[in-house]
Amino acid sequence: MKNLLSALFAAALLSNLTACQQETPPVPLTPKPEFRVDLGPDPHSYAEYDQVQVRHLTLDLDADMATRTLSGHVLLELDRPDPAHKRLVLDTRDLDIQDVTVVGPEGEYRPVSWRLGPVLSEDQAHLGQPLVIILPQGISQVRVDYQSSPDAFGLQWLDGNQTSSGQPFMFSQSQPHYARTWVPLQDTPAVRYTFDATVRGPRDLMVVMGADGNPFERNTKGEYRFSMPQPVPSYLMAIAIGDLEFAEIGPRSGVYAEPDWIERAAAEFHQLEEMIDIGEQLYGEYRWGRYDLLVLPPSFPFGGMENPRLSYVTPTIIAGDGSLLALVAHELAHSWSGNLVTNASWRDLWLNEGFTVYFESRIMEQIYSPEVVAMLARLDWDGLQASLPELEAGDRQLVRDLSGKDPEGAFISVPYDMGRFFLDWIESRIGREDLDVFLRQYFDEFAFESIDTETFRDYLDTHLIQTHSGALTLAEVDQWLYEPGMPEFAVAPESDALARVDAQRARWQGGEMALNDLSTDDWSVYEWLHFLSGLEGPLPTEVLAAMDAEFALTDSTNVEILYLWLQHSIDAEYAPGIERLEQFLIEVGRNKFTRPLYTALAASDWGRDWAIEVYQRARPGYHPLTRQAAERALGIDSEG
Ligand SMILES: [Zn+2]
Repeated sequence: MKNLLSALFAAALLSNLTACQQETPPVPLTPKPEFRVDLGPDPHSYAEYDQVQVRHLTLDLDADMATRTLSGHVLLELDRPDPAHKRLVLDTRDLDIQDVTVVGPEGEYRPVSWRLGPVLSEDQAHLGQPLVIILPQGISQVRVDYQSSPDAFGLQWLDGNQTSSGQPFMFSQSQPHYARTWVPLQDTPAVRYTFDATVRGPRDLMVVMGADGNPFERNTKGEYRFSMPQPVPSYLMAIAIGDLEFAEIGPRSGVYAEPDWIERAAAEFHQLEEMIDIGEQLYGEYRWGRYDLLVLPPSFPFGGMENPRLSYVTPTIIAGDGSLLALVAHELAHSWSGNLVTNASWRDLWLNEGFTVYFESRIMEQIYSPEVVAMLARLDWDGLQASLPELEAGDRQLVRDLSGKDPEGAFISVPYDMGRFFLDWIESRIGREDLDVFLRQYFDEFAFESIDTETFRDYLDTHLIQTHSGALTLAEVDQWLYEPGMPEFAVAPESDALARVDAQRARWQGGEMALNDLSTDDWSVYEWLHFLSGLEGPLPTEVLAAMDAEFALTDSTNVEILYLWLQHSIDAEYAPGIERLEQFLIEVGRNKFTRPLYTALAASDWGRDWAIEVYQRARPGYHPLTRQAAERALGIDSEG
């Protein structure tokens, strides 16, 4: 309450000033020096983590599905390497801070001086507000009592009519910097901490977290306890509440989903335990205990999120034939690259994602075949080559300066695919066996640490470049890291299967071959994706109708194939495709699909008004991130 009152008082003062500014000299609103704050060493956090670091969190929260809030407190345990530094600055965004106390020598709670600072500037509003707490000498525990906002950007609350079970659902998405919308903390990947949590939710729903302690069955009291004994960065904090069931897959793996999805999910992901074994054979022990998946409602804005011990996945990858399992391999691979060895800031995101896409391909190679991986690599290569010319120079390189920018913009294909081709290139120079030895050592060396690109670069120089004289140079590595575009010496992946698709597509589009003579019977989903993405368009409506009659593409149950088909349908204004598109946009909130579809509609000469009308109906079921991206694509006001 203290803070709300002071905000009201400040507002009253301000309005007073405008009314009588001629007579009264301006009242200084500048805070006292001890409360003055700027961004910390990480440009996306106020945390002064070089002076004081959070080491452990204890969360105690009540979840209220009706008011869409989490409320309770967090106890933060601190390391104070610089005892002369007398304050703790936490990141918060839209949190109602109710009280801040510290724990005295006898374990008693004592009041302290604290203040919620202003938003830095309008275009930096996504960073939220710093919570400045004055630390008395010798104090190493701080308690913050707070409540999250119903509009917390990092939480999505769904009504029963937006889920398959008919029950409400809530899930978090903390990456990159949304943990601060549901916990006041040092919200930077540079800081790692362990945590415990007690969460009370409705008795008829289940609470799960990216932590140890997930239940296999509902707890009749509605109270759940969790712990995370390995230190993690804040973006990996994860919570979800819903009508969940659990299905076991292996001794340390399983899947959580709403009742309607659980059987299909368990069947689709039946190779999960095998994938963990493959990961361990490649790069060493899986260090997180269990590995479970949580299938979210279709409004989940991403394909997957690598929350430790409990990765979140979209139901859109449940294709019925395991054809979209690469996403699961990706989230699992993050248990090493990303969760175990973590980028110290979003500038270094490629350390998480590039390694993970490479690792994912190695898992896929063993689950499927080298031919499948060659197809996936070629698809990624083509996608990257298509996107590079559209990016500014600074965004076309692995290490990107994101200061002053929303880190949401870090998640483009460059850190993922160019990062992976960088590792492919090292493999081509020194051989797979030596690269595997290096990667295993690297994961051991930096396990449970957050590192920057330069730390990796030094390690690479000492342990790989210098031990493989002449195979590759630091200058070549620097070109990958710090110069825009793919180096001319990058190795393009080749796929014979996709080359055969190219040949057939060209003959058909060149009029040398009839549609029904295309030999598509043995095509995998990857061949279909390549076929569809390489079509010379826009295609006439009658060609789409003929393709539909032959291949039933409008009815495809594979979301990736359907997505490309819908793009062609927009270009051709193909009615059956547009009808399917409407249903798709209302059901699916995965940004990878919704953002480009709305963008294409906005750019078409017929689709913008139609898209805005569909968007208004779909909006209640979309995640805030999906809304933000769709509204930008459609050029409409965020409140529209
Ligand atoms: Zn990833």
